[in-house]
Amino acid sequence: MTIYFDNAATTQIDSSVQELLSSLSRDVFGNPNSIHSEGRKARKYIEEARTFFSEYLSCEASELVFTSCASESNNYFLKSFPADLIITSPTEHSCVLESVKASGKKIHWLKLDQYGLLIKEDLESILEANADKKVLISLMYGNNEIGSINDLQYLSELKLKFSNLFIHSDCVQALTKLDLNLSTLNIDSISCSAHKVHGPKGVGLIYINKKAQGILSLKNLALIHGGGQESGFRSGTQNVVGIAAFAQAVKSSKEDSGLEKLKALDAYFLKILDEKNPLLILNSPREKRVPGIFNLHLANSRLKSEELVLQLDLKGICVSSGSACSSLKGDSQIISSYVLRACGFSAEISEKSIRVSLSRHNNLDEIDTFFKIIEGVASKFPLE
Ligand code: PLP
Repeated sequence: MTIYFDNAATTQIDSSVQELLSSLSRDVFGNPNSIHSEGRKARKYIEEARTFFSEYLSCEASELVFTSCASESNNYFLKSFPADLIITSPTEHSCVLESVKASGKKIHWLKLDQYGLLIKEDLESILEANADKKVLISLMYGNNEIGSINDLQYLSELKLKFSNLFIHSDCVQALTKLDLNLSTLNIDSISCSAHKVHGPKGVGLIYINKKAQGILSLKNLALIHGGGQESGFRSGTQNVVGIAAFAQAVKSSKEDSGLEKLKALDAYFLKILDEKNPLLILNSPREKRVPGIFNLHLANSRLKSEELVLQLDLKGICVSSGSACSSLKGDSQIISSYVLRACGFSAEISEKSIRVSLSRHNNLDEIDTFFKIIEGVASKFPLE
């Protein structure tokens, strides 16, 4: 039996979502933009999903656009938004980093603390210096590698002082796990993805508030032009079944008390980790962390991240070396996590760290087994 602890990379599809996927794939095939009954039937599923998300996130349904993934959502907003300056962090997901670079706009890279969180003085001084410019801050809510949580409330309050400030947040790891109420957060845009919350791959969404939509005519700057679907923001026939399944995944997490279950597993993992100390060291913050995400290193083992991932895999445990960018290159040279390096971790620690990410579908026995196995692996490969 595999123990799947790589839920920040992707998740297993929830059983209620599986059922919906198979019934809708069979029964709903119309083009949602056709005016006949089959088209209207398909369209109803999309609009029900949009209404569900608007209630769940506390925003207007017309502020939500369905996309193919969060990478697309981030690419769209960051490349299209006509900012004079983009302020972001080197710990963002690569789809944000690459979009910001490809936008051709001026970039300010934030100075960070040991958990990858911004240093307020640095941000505020750059905002003061650019108060007359259109500035976009792009900062993820919860980090996918280390789990640290950015203070979106603080960012949204900065908008009271800087009227030309816009905020975009990659909320992929936050959806269903952190408080995401857009009526209390004064931010302009967020991106989310279905496959991180037990939904299918290939479906995402972007929220763009009315102000950003209107003032900037973002519609004219769509990445995909064509038939004008999704109110012109994103042409292409919608993934009807995937969109309905995305909504069902989020609904199911709520109905299943998903967050409470995940928090209980998180607390148990921390408890066992404390008991085993100093074998496994937590790189992530203890508090203010996305529940279920732990970045760790083995202090008493010589194994590098990928070697440890493979040793655990041999024993049936799936974890990750942290990021898709931490991988063995063709010449077998190990690249350490850019996120950990940006947080100031040494090359030695960055090169031997792993990410364990839980979901509500894991259980306490799996956590016990993980600790037993990793202890065995560490003693088999001690420091030289
Ligand atoms: N942003 C974060 C924080 C992620 O963890 C991921 C997934 O790896 C993405 C963006 C990209 O999401 P998608 O696979 O839907 O493009």
